[in-house]
Amino acid sequence: MVSRVIPVDDFDLVIFGGTGDLAQRKILPGLYRRFCSGQMPESARIIGAARADLDSNGWRDMVRASIAEFSSVNRCDDARIDAFLMRLEYVSVDARGENGWKELARLVRKDIVHAFYFSVSPSLFGDLADRLYLHKIGNSDSRIVVEKPFGRDLKSAKELNATLAKHFDETQIYRIDHYLGKETVQNLMAVRFGNILFEPLWNSQYVDHIQITVAETVGVGGRGEYYDKSGAMRDMVQNHLMQLLCLIAMEPPSRFEPDEVRDEKLKVIRALEPVDPHHIVRGQYGPTDEKPDYREDVGDARSRTESFIALRTHISNWRWAGTPFYLRTGKKLKARTSEIVVVFKDAPHSIFGPEAGTHSNILRIRLQPNEGMTLGVTIKEPGPGGMRLLDVPLDMSFAETLGDDIADIPDAYERLIMDVIRGNQTLFMRGDEVEAAWAWTDPIIEGWERRHDVPKPYDVGSTGPEDALMMMHRDGRRWREIKE
Ligand code: NAP
Repeated sequence: MVSRVIPVDDFDLVIFGGTGDLAQRKILPGLYRRFCSGQMPESARIIGAARADLDSNGWRDMVRASIAEFSSVNRCDDARIDAFLMRLEYVSVDARGENGWKELARLVRKDIVHAFYFSVSPSLFGDLADRLYLHKIGNSDSRIVVEKPFGRDLKSAKELNATLAKHFDETQIYRIDHYLGKETVQNLMAVRFGNILFEPLWNSQYVDHIQITVAETVGVGGRGEYYDKSGAMRDMVQNHLMQLLCLIAMEPPSRFEPDEVRDEKLKVIRALEPVDPHHIVRGQYGPTDEKPDYREDVGDARSRTESFIALRTHISNWRWAGTPFYLRTGKKLKARTSEIVVVFKDAPHSIFGPEAGTHSNILRIRLQPNEGMTLGVTIKEPGPGGMRLLDVPLDMSFAETLGDDIADIPDAYERLIMDVIRGNQTLFMRGDEVEAAWAWTDPIIEGWERRHDVPKPYDVGSTGPEDALMMMHRDGRRWREIKE
C-alpha cells in the first residue's frame, strides 16, 4: 500500500546546532527512521557541528539517547542503531570564530550532495554562510536549510534573505515550514488536483467559507522569552497557517514543480486583503486554580502578546471573492488539533421541506492528530418515519486505510530533509513568499500596537476567548468544535 522507498544520492549533511533541541528531537531521530527504511545510501554521512567540546563518540551517545526517546521506530534493532551511528561525525565549530572550520572543510567530501542545516538561531545564519564561503566548504550545488522564524517583520526578513543571497542562490536555499511536509498537506494537493470531483466546486460559488485551526494544548514551555517577543501571529499565522491557506486557495499549477507551485502560492498571498480590526480577536490564557497564566509563564506581568488569535480574511481574486477565510490558533486550548474545514453552501432548494432542516457538505482535512480527510454527506436517516435527513462522514483516515503501513509514512522532517537531498524545493518557502507574507502581516500587527490593544483573557483548556465565538456569530457561522 505504501509507496516504494527510493534511495537518495550519496550525501554529506552538516547539522549546525547538532547538539540542540531541534536536531536531537526531530532531525536526527527522523534521519534514523529514513536509515531504517533503507533510503540512505551506505556511504551517506551526517556531521554534527556546535561549540560543545565533544568528539564523535560523545555526540553518538547523545544521539543514541535521543533516538531511544524520540524516534518511535520499533523495527530497528541495536545493530541497526550502531550502523546508523557510525555514519555520524562531530566537529566542534564556532559560527562566530575560527575554531573548527578547517577540520570541517577537511571532513566534507567533494563531488557529492552537500546539505548544511542551520539549526541555530537566525542571528548566526550570516556568520555560517560567510564562513562556509570563506573556507570553500561545499560547491555551487550545496543546499542550506533554514528554520523559522524567518524574520520578525518584512524588514528583517528582507535582511535575512539578503544575507543568505550573498553566497547562495535562491535554488540552494530551503526554508523549512514543517507543516508542508505533512502527509495530509500533500494529500490535499492530490485530492484537489488529482480528482475531477472537487475542483469544479472549489470556489466562492459553492464554498461558503473555510476555517483553518491549529490548536495546541501546551503553553509557551521553556520558550517564554522568545514567544513573548513573537506571539501567535508571528509564530503561527505568518508561516504555518499562511502556507495552509495558500495550498487550499491556490490555482492549479501547470505542473507539480517547485516554482510552478510556489508561483501560485505567492499569488494567493499577494491577493490577501488587509484585515479589518473588527475581525481580529487576540487572547491570552488566564490563570486557573493550579495553573499559572500566560504572563507568569513569560515572566512579564504586563505582557500584551497574544497566545491566541482568530481572524477573518478574504482573497481578492475571481475564484474566492466573497468567501471568508477564518484562521484560528492558540496555546493551552481544549485539545491539540490542526485542521482545515471547507464548508460548502447549502443546496439551493430543499425538496424535502423545512422540517428536513438545512445540511451543508463539509470537507474536513486533519493534519494532526490522526491525519486524514472526512467528507460529510447528507443521506436519509434509515428506517421508517418519513424523509428525515442525516449528515454522515465519508471517512478517509490514513490510519484505517493503510493499517500498519502508516508507521512507514515519513514524518514531516524526514520527508523534507530527503527532499533537500533530492534537490526538490516544492515544499519549501521561496524568499518572495516569505516577504509577501510579512507584507500582509506587518500592518495587522502595527494596527493593534497603534491601538494599544490588550488581548482578551481565556480559560486554560477552553476554545479561546468568547469574542472569537462572537466574531463568527456576527457572520451567522460557527467554529467547528476543537476536539482530538
Ligand atoms: P537550541 O536548543 O538552543 O540549540 C542551538 C544550537 O546551536 C546548539 O546546538 C548550540 O550548541 C548551537 N550554537 C549556539 N551558538 C553557536 C555558535 N556560535 N556556533 C556554533 N553553534 C552554536 O535551539 P533549537 O531549539 O534547537 O533551535 C534551533 C533553530 O531551530 C532556531 O532557529 C529555532 O528558532 C528553530 N526552531 C526550533 C524548533 C524546536 O522545536 N526546537 C522548532 C522550530 C524552529 P553550542 O551551545 O554547543 O554551540
